[in-house]
Amino acid sequence: MKIGVLGTGYVGLVTGTCFAEHGNEVTCVDIDKSKVEQMNKGKVPIYEPGLEEMFLKNIKAGRLSFTDNLAQGVKDADVIFLALPTPPGEDGSADLSYILKAASDLAPLIDNYTVIVDKSTVPVGTADKVRDAIQKGTKKDFDVVSNPEFLKEGFAIDDFMHPDRIVIGADTTKALDVMRKLYEEFIVDRTQFIEMDIRSAEMTKYAANSFLAAKISFINEIANLCEQVGADIDSVREGMGSDSRIGHKFLYPGIGYGGSCFPKDVQALVKTADDNGVDLSILKSVERANYRQKTIILKKIKDYFGNISGKKIAVWGLAFKPNTDDIREAPALEIISALLEQGAVISAYDPEAIENSKKHFSDDDSITFTNDKYEALSGVDALVIATEWSEFHTADLTKLKDLAVFDGRNIFNPKNVQNNFKYYTSIGRP
Ligand code: NAD
Repeated sequence: MKIGVLGTGYVGLVTGTCFAEHGNEVTCVDIDKSKVEQMNKGKVPIYEPGLEEMFLKNIKAGRLSFTDNLAQGVKDADVIFLALPTPPGEDGSADLSYILKAASDLAPLIDNYTVIVDKSTVPVGTADKVRDAIQKGTKKDFDVVSNPEFLKEGFAIDDFMHPDRIVIGADTTKALDVMRKLYEEFIVDRTQFIEMDIRSAEMTKYAANSFLAAKISFINEIANLCEQVGADIDSVREGMGSDSRIGHKFLYPGIGYGGSCFPKDVQALVKTADDNGVDLSILKSVERANYRQKTIILKKIKDYFGNISGKKIAVWGLAFKPNTDDIREAPALEIISALLEQGAVISAYDPEAIENSKKHFSDDDSITFTNDKYEALSGVDALVIATEWSEFHTADLTKLKDLAVFDGRNIFNPKNVQNNFKYYTSIGRP
């Protein structure tokens, strides 16, 4: 099929590349000219394992191209994906301006029957708004479909190529047939192709992300309690997770969830509920719990040092999770900002997220970045571990021996390190 993808971020670029991999002719459109220029030179603008190889292969095969010209990007397209940002607005609701602007811009460009797909995470009722916006500008035949994306940054290619489920919300058989054909190649043993009405598909994405956020906050709060009563969260989560109704995934305590999805999606769902007179009290508590969790390490650092001013602190891990360069809403950023505010001097290391972090802290002289994790430790009093990159698990412990280590991701086993470091603390373990 001929496919247009609007937006070449973590979702759009992976979507476009994976559809090209299965033989479709894909044009990706982005308003960011420098990004388009970069991609046309064969450079992937984000870090995502496995993406570069597939991206280059499909460009070479002539199935994947990039443009900042919308008309060129969607010419003769059978399907157009909207993989655009839906950031939180001031009141917490999802800002639909990118989506609705793109829908209006697309309207006069539709020629033959086209399926417009909402791939972005959008609140219930958005497909109706997209349809209205397009209808205002064209008399041509089109359908709007909801196809929320469930990929995880860091595993995006595998998630997209071998999905657990493909959720399609459609209200015509014509559109559904197009989506079935498009995804035919992606159906593997474990994949469920789940068809439903559009509003339920839109809601499914928010419900799924909010449930995962709640699971994280739940185990974080249990970990905090373990610490106070002398229990060990590692044993507790092992015992809990062995119940197949609960499962082991997402039962790892830490310093809170971040990223471009969970915080904004929980917030947007709470707002949708409020607007509709439904009190999502559990999710309101999840938001509060996550906010508090991000300050846990700070409290521990303060308790240890008393006064943080002038202390030299290394931070390992800046990305909101491992295997990505994405720092949006990363707990590390909030911790670093608070430490800087209190007069600490920071040296920070991350395997992939340094460039993005440099931009984020460009106004602050009290933070430096190193390209080596051990270099970040030079002359520091303490180390904070904020992201669980696998290379931290295998760190040379002798290089940390004179430090106070605040392990926000339970990287080390307390039994192995208690006597090696000057001080060691983690989340929910004795
Ligand atoms: P992103 O910020 O990484 O990328 C968005 C891209 O859209 C940017 O390159 C931007 O320049 C471009 N853009 C903005 N307006 C445009 C326009 N009018 N035409 C063409 N391009 C335009 O965003 P993302 O992380 O890929 O997320 C996109 C959507 O997918 C969001 O709704 C998000 O909630 C959802 N989602 C994200 C993930 C994830 O892991 N990042 C997973 C599932 C769903």
